[in-house]
Amino acid sequence: MRDFVFPGITSRVLFGSGTRARLGEEIARLGHRRAFFLCTPQQTGEANALSGLLGQQSAGLFSGAEMHTPLAVTEKAIAAFDQSGADCLVAVGGGSTIGLGKAIATRTGADQIAIPTTYAGSEMTDILGETDAGEKVTRRDPSIRPEVVIYDVDLTLGLPAKLTVTSALNAIAHGIEGLYAPDANPITDLMATEAMRAFKSGLPRVVEAPTDREARARILYGAWLCSTVLGYITMSLHHKLAHVLGGSFGLPHAETHAILLPHTAGFNAVGTDRLDAVAELFGGSVGRGLWDFAKTCGAPLSLADLGLDRTDIPRAAEIATRNRYANPRPFDAGDIEAILYAAWEGRPVA
Ligand code: NAD
Repeated sequence: MRDFVFPGITSRVLFGSGTRARLGEEIARLGHRRAFFLCTPQQTGEANALSGLLGQQSAGLFSGAEMHTPLAVTEKAIAAFDQSGADCLVAVGGGSTIGLGKAIATRTGADQIAIPTTYAGSEMTDILGETDAGEKVTRRDPSIRPEVVIYDVDLTLGLPAKLTVTSALNAIAHGIEGLYAPDANPITDLMATEAMRAFKSGLPRVVEAPTDREARARILYGAWLCSTVLGYITMSLHHKLAHVLGGSFGLPHAETHAILLPHTAGFNAVGTDRLDAVAELFGGSVGRGLWDFAKTCGAPLSLADLGLDRTDIPRAAEIATRNRYANPRPFDAGDIEAILYAAWEGRPVA
């Protein structure tokens, strides 16, 4: 057995159906009086409804959250937060909104309550990716992690089918990188494999019946586990490639993760037994099992369809190999190009 350190789960988690009704109690439990809400323009309705439930405990709403947390948006939101007289933050939405909450919290020291409505998994992590002048910078710090996370399955029932599938694969990617991370431990392994089981059984059911509450709860549970794993492990090749394609080539977050995953996992499965549980669960080889699962669920399979130019691949490989980072299998720019060409064409993984 490997020696390990498990740092403990520091965020308080509420999980279930209708849990958002307990938001007021959670604000009081943190010792706060009034909360400032954050959301994207598309989720103003949900955030306003929640803010309305709080009455005097709500101090207003900023509805301008954007993908990749641009610094200019954070500065505007901090000004609105300061003016509101609120003493804590409530982020209602996907990774973009939760990212904005983290960006404000790490600068102001405010406590955060995250209410995730996708499976992207930012809520349990100490990771913040921000963009300024077109450059995306990622950092980790304990002040970034939300104090409380409220998972309410009811808020995920209307998540569009396409985003449901890509976001779920985005979550699975956290679990898989957790399994071969240098700082993986038996607890993160347990969480990651339990999450795979939840997605394997739950996602096809949600694709068939998007408002099936039980199946939605199952994959939201998987997303919680994967987010927790991501919060305690070192990311490797998969996240690095997704970061390069998103940050330097403007590709959309969840779709890029979904397309890359079978290819990166297939590459990293060679020479290790750390992903045996994934092959067992999804069938066939790790890469092919995940590729077939993604295809069956209707996920996009080709980076070409996301608008990546084939001629950009050598540059993407060059950026991705500029700095050294943890990965179970050694690689060079040629390996990365091979992964990206296969993912660009949407080729099945062997
Ligand atoms: P997103 O938050 O941008 O959401 C995509 C769109 O879907 C938005 O318009 C949003 O308002 C809408 N939406 C969200 N939930 C919905 C629902 N239930 N019903 C209807 N519409 C809904 O996308 P995302 O994939 O959740 O997050 C991506 C961002 O999160 C990226 O910037 C990524 O870098 C970040 N992220 C960070 C971490 C971390 O640990 N720091 C982890 C994962 C993702």
